[in-house]
Amino acid sequence: MRGKPLFSNLQYCTRCCMPETQEGIKFDEMGVCQACQSAEQKIHIDWTKREYKLREIIKNAKSEAGSNYDCIIPISGGKDSMFQLFVLVKEYGMKPLAVTFDYGWYSETGTYNLINCLEKFNVDHIKFSVNRELIKRLAKRSLSCIGDSCWCCHAGLGAFPLKIAVKFNIPLLIWGESIAEASARATYFDPVRRYDREYFTKVSAKLSADEMICDYLSETDLNPFQIPSAEECKRAGVYGIHLGDYMFWDEQRQTEFLVKHYDWKESAMEGTYKSYKGVECIMVGVHDFTCYLKRGYGRASFHASIDVRHGLLTREEGFALARQHDPIRPHALDYYLMAAGMDEDEFYKIMEKQKVLQLKNIELPVYKNTEKHLEVLIPIGEQYVEKYKYCKMY
Ligand SMILES: [Zn+2]
Repeated sequence: MRGKPLFSNLQYCTRCCMPETQEGIKFDEMGVCQACQSAEQKIHIDWTKREYKLREIIKNAKSEAGSNYDCIIPISGGKDSMFQLFVLVKEYGMKPLAVTFDYGWYSETGTYNLINCLEKFNVDHIKFSVNRELIKRLAKRSLSCIGDSCWCCHAGLGAFPLKIAVKFNIPLLIWGESIAEASARATYFDPVRRYDREYFTKVSAKLSADEMICDYLSETDLNPFQIPSAEECKRAGVYGIHLGDYMFWDEQRQTEFLVKHYDWKESAMEGTYKSYKGVECIMVGVHDFTCYLKRGYGRASFHASIDVRHGLLTREEGFALARQHDPIRPHALDYYLMAAGMDEDEFYKIMEKQKVLQLKNIELPVYKNTEKHLEVLIPIGEQYVEKYKYCKMY
């Protein structure tokens, strides 16, 4: 299967399928994007040396923690978080506190994966869940403010682990994949070592909690999304690392390993051909579809680019998959529109305003989704209540 890029007026990386419209993308003089350069850097890094550094960090964290938790591991139940727990608990004997921010759109498979990884690795866990009604108001506000459906998730994932770090005096936070893996915000030669408390606001949430306040969202509503102050973070000595900067990261092989040995489960995914990224959330399809409407590429382009870098696909095969999947209207849009109290015309009107300059006068193709989706695209909480409300339990 051979394909061409969807938009002839855009510059695409000469190695993979990513267009110039990806936020923060940088090309070198050969037209190669930073993520493709990172994939090459990975091969030339002395990972044994890096692992030695990781051992040192862990040793120090353990000795400083005393009887407290050694670190915080933010987990969603996705493949990365389960792999983090495997490495840190099983291989390095750490005692982490796992924390989860539940943005309200957990899928059935994702809920299983989250519970399963807590059971398998025996870790203490704190979960924060946003109330349903607030989730809906945030979903509405999110689209016009940042051009995607998911501010609640972006902001909560950044704020909640930090709040816990400060509250419980656990300075070390450990994330999974390196920032260098798929973005130009870091390179493997120069990983992000210093912790930036506003990282998630800058990269994904875009707007702070205060900037989301409006006539239907109060300061009190937005309190769970407030990031602790610089002083509070300093007092707790908060710092963070990404495991992927210290060990060779290969998400495909890691996923196969977790499926085989720890019963992690894949699921059907909207907007792409891979089944292991973002399975915990029913709204991923909408998130990626808005990216397509805004920037002209969706999750299939992103996945295909990863596979091209790993030599699993040719660039042309990648473009063919992107053309096939990126423009499909996701089924989850039905739930989103209901939750946000919006009709479809309004949705497309808002997205038209969010379009990048390079695509302004181009009508993006959108295809109807003709296939039934296998995962139920309703949050697990709502599914669960609906399922049992008429049942006599015992
Ligand atoms: Zn590239």
